[in-house]
Amino acid sequence: MPNVSTRGDGKPEVNHSYSAKLNPATGECILENYGEKYKTCDFALLANLYISEGKPGKVVEVRSSRRTGQSNFVSCMREALDRHYGKKPVGMGGTFLIQKGKAKIHVMPEFSPCPLNGDEAVNNWLKFFDMSAPLICQSVYVSRDLGFDLRVEHTHCFSHHGEGGHYHYDTTPDTVEYLGYFLPAEHLYRIDRPEQIHKLGW
Ligand SMILES: [Zn+2]
Repeated sequence: MPNVSTRGDGKPEVNHSYSAKLNPATGECILENYGEKYKTCDFALLANLYISEGKPGKVVEVRSSRRTGQSNFVSCMREALDRHYGKKPVGMGGTFLIQKGKAKIHVMPEFSPCPLNGDEAVNNWLKFFDMSAPLICQSVYVSRDLGFDLRVEHTHCFSHHGEGGHYHYDTTPDTVEYLGYFLPAEHLYRIDRPEQIHKLGW
């Protein structure tokens, strides 16, 4: 769950990121303060990052409770933007709180010793949990892919009770409550785009 103030104006970088991994002995989630523990801002595999100057200003506030359809909170916002703006893609980033209820969250185990071919193999490898509110979520989403092989939405969450990971959807549609703050992006950068694309899940 990347959250970094970058170096600048004579100040060093500050890393508030968290990471989630599995306890190999128990299979439970271990949430760690990544910046404090590993003293690095490096990351591997992939990241969907929202970058801002951190200045105060107007933001979009979204309050929502009770889920009536299949789409998760982020998909609802993304699909609404896509319906409205169509061929003009809109990218958003921000943070939201799952204030009440529970959510389906995955944590990556150790890397698979064999290649994972297909979504089913990926899902069998990932470890899924039903995690409890309050969950603090960081999200990046783009209303539609312009052909960059984007992951059009990606949300990770952490908490102050030891749970965190990759957000899929809430599992308590009748009682769930969300509160979020978002901003539209001005530019989209696709860095180190893979030459071979796989169209695989998460
Ligand atoms: Zn993820």
